[in-house]
Amino acid sequence: MSSEPTTLMEAIRYFADPDVALDTMVKLRWPNGVCCPTCGRTDVRFVKTRRVWECKEVHAKRQFSAKVGTVFEDSSLGLDKWFVAIWMVANCKNGVSSYEVHRAIGVTQKSAWFMLHRIRLAMQAGSLVKAEGHVEADETYVGGLAKNMHKDKREWVIKGTGGAGKTIVMGVLQRAEKDATSRVRARIIKETTKATLHAEVRAAVKPGSHLHTDAAKGYRGLSDDFKHGVVDHAVEYVRGNVHTNGLENFWSLLKRGLKGTYVSVEPYHLFRYLDEQVFRFNERGDNDYGRFQSVLSWVTGIRLTWSELVGSGSEVIA
Ligand SMILES: [Zn+2]
Repeated sequence: MSSEPTTLMEAIRYFADPDVALDTMVKLRWPNGVCCPTCGRTDVRFVKTRRVWECKEVHAKRQFSAKVGTVFEDSSLGLDKWFVAIWMVANCKNGVSSYEVHRAIGVTQKSAWFMLHRIRLAMQAGSLVKAEGHVEADETYVGGLAKNMHKDKREWVIKGTGGAGKTIVMGVLQRAEKDATSRVRARIIKETTKATLHAEVRAAVKPGSHLHTDAAKGYRGLSDDFKHGVVDHAVEYVRGNVHTNGLENFWSLLKRGLKGTYVSVEPYHLFRYLDEQVFRFNERGDNDYGRFQSVLSWVTGIRLTWSELVGSGSEVIA
């Protein structure tokens, strides 16, 4: 067990052993020992032949697998397949398509697509910590033209000057300090009004932090709660330490990833791709096994059904 995988090929071989896969899951999910998800009892019996546990308390769902209460719960796919898919999402630099997962682990493309979206949902959990210190805030426009989208999706795009037909992404970046690398949090927003931008900043940044933005009107009026530095991009891009270069760098990585990997990203699904890029950026200082473990540690307690995921009138994309 000492040789943790370092490549996708090694990961496939490593997790092909059901005992190794289960052991990996148990160590992350129950670091203090297995306990019953229903009643919390810890003196549970392991049924070796079926790789499930049985609770001594008499209640419904006495027998439980390691998948219960996680995004894997109602999936018939084995942990070996899930873990390889997680490995790919966590470690493929420019994102991974459902087609690639379908080929790598031998599930249908529809299953692969569903797996990917569940994994991305788990990744959201990793970027919800409020930023502090020196923080940059900025927005960017991504995506295609509105005329190519269905009517119900046009609501997700804006029709303002300069960004017509594109989706707006709002980002907050906590600059690097001491040993920690810079961290990003990014979300899709519907408009760049003062109300929206202020709400996003307040939700993502601790009061009292140094806030760096451009001169957009939507950011005015934040200096009561933040040490607000403004750089007017019509004049200059850097004024002392006031700039949004960290976020500019993230935006270009994001756009390169979207361009290189996905044929089309509908606004409806874009936020999940965004989460994936944010995760990879924030975990860039870790190695492949570390990133895999981060995602796996977040899957517990998060569930998503097929109907919740696809919504209404949405089609499956690559
Ligand atoms: Zn129990």
